Amino acid sequence: MNYKESQHHSQLTVTPDEAIRLPSYAPGFRQTGGWFTRTAEINTGTRAKPVIVKKKIHRLTGGLSAELNAMFAAENEVCPVCGGHMHAHGSEYVLLKHITLGSDYTELNVCRLRRACSVCTYSVTQRIPFQDGSHRITRAAGAGILHAMKHGGTCKKAAIDCGINRNIVMEVHKSHLAGYYTDCDGVLIKPERQALYLGIDEWKLHDGNHYATIIIDLETGHILWIQDTKKTDVVRNFIAHAGDEFMKKVKGIACDMNADFARAFKKAYDHLEIIYDRFHLIRNFNEKVITPVRIAEQKRLKAEGRHEEAERLRRNRYITTSSRDTLKAKDAQGAEALKAGVTDVRPSGQTLFKSLRSPVPPGDNRLETYEDLIRDNRLLCALDIVREQLRQAYMEPDAGSMKKVLEGIVSVCRETGNEHFKWFAKLVKDHLDGIIAYAVHRVTSGKCEGIVNLIKTVRRAAYGFKDTDYFFLRLLDASRGYPA
Ligand SMILES: [Zn+2]
Repeated sequence: MNYKESQHHSQLTVTPDEAIRLPSYAPGFRQTGGWFTRTAEINTGTRAKPVIVKKKIHRLTGGLSAELNAMFAAENEVCPVCGGHMHAHGSEYVLLKHITLGSDYTELNVCRLRRACSVCTYSVTQRIPFQDGSHRITRAAGAGILHAMKHGGTCKKAAIDCGINRNIVMEVHKSHLAGYYTDCDGVLIKPERQALYLGIDEWKLHDGNHYATIIIDLETGHILWIQDTKKTDVVRNFIAHAGDEFMKKVKGIACDMNADFARAFKKAYDHLEIIYDRFHLIRNFNEKVITPVRIAEQKRLKAEGRHEEAERLRRNRYITTSSRDTLKAKDAQGAEALKAGVTDVRPSGQTLFKSLRSPVPPGDNRLETYEDLIRDNRLLCALDIVREQLRQAYMEPDAGSMKKVLEGIVSVCRETGNEHFKWFAKLVKDHLDGIIAYAVHRVTSGKCEGIVNLIKTVRRAAYGFKDTDYFFLRLLDASRGYPA
């Protein structure tokens, strides 16, 4: 922010006839002069691409009320250090950022009194009752920040809206959230309700290799615990936090198959059912089988000089990773677009500016392309079969029939002879009971997937802040639908 200060406290920019009286929102403040208005240039863009906005800042000068001044004198008659007499010892001005007035900012220039001991060096300064903690803002401004931060607002936007430094915005919001989600000793609150099923998973937090382990209530999606480590002592810490009574009533834990979390939970509470849900199984298949197989196939085709086919596989990444049903639906849309003579492609959801545009490229027979691709390729064909079987497995009505489908998956994977498929076969085989547990408990994986999106959203909103505590508090808050 760029502003030039001057000390013309009493300079009026409107005549008294044009002025109106409003509540100060700073109880105890007594304005002594008029106001002084200056214009500041605020950068609402970035450092690289500045967008300069001119903002008016009204400075109101005054002190504290006569009652408060009298109280200050009465309370500081005698020196608490040596018992000597205290006397008035000048005053000082403190500038506090205050509420906004339309798009203008206001600030209070508050004169506060000082008293000093006439014997020793002790001195005391008047406390400003409407100051927000130790920040140079008023309580009303602090309330304005929280209002601007509600429902996932960004610190940057709140800072511009309120005319307050971004770091202060973050500090105010953080201490508010901490007050909401921790007790008076700064310890995280216990889970608000008894969870029957918990989900535990590790997620990438910031860009790079920063992981955190998150424990959620699978029914509500509320985050109950976050720790910035992948280690299993997270489980121990959470159990200590939630308590024995809570853990005894939990029925099951949904988690990923590769992690040691299941073992750690089982070790502490043997009654817990370990559930490997659909979300994690599909994720493993996508990341550990589909992706490497596709890449390997591309390489093989290239090595055999079949560049056109390799290129087609590369370009059709989307096709090889989506299900037949999705492709069919896209084809139907495309065919319709072709019939209507549409040539342009445009994202769906436009209603205001209707035009002859299609959400998918017209014509283009995706299912046929897909079938062409897999016809001559055994591994792509196996991918297709296993994916359909996985979908089928989670639709089976009971554990017995689900088991049969899963065993089918194991044998298809083994027959391919491919290392990635064989890895997946072993994964399914080794975790069969936990996968089938789904059919009994019917734990949905929707909440787990929701958390991924939540982290992305909050990460974007909190971008630039390396404060992990603040980031975790915002995740807790967001997972509860921003109640605070
Ligand atoms: Zn003294």
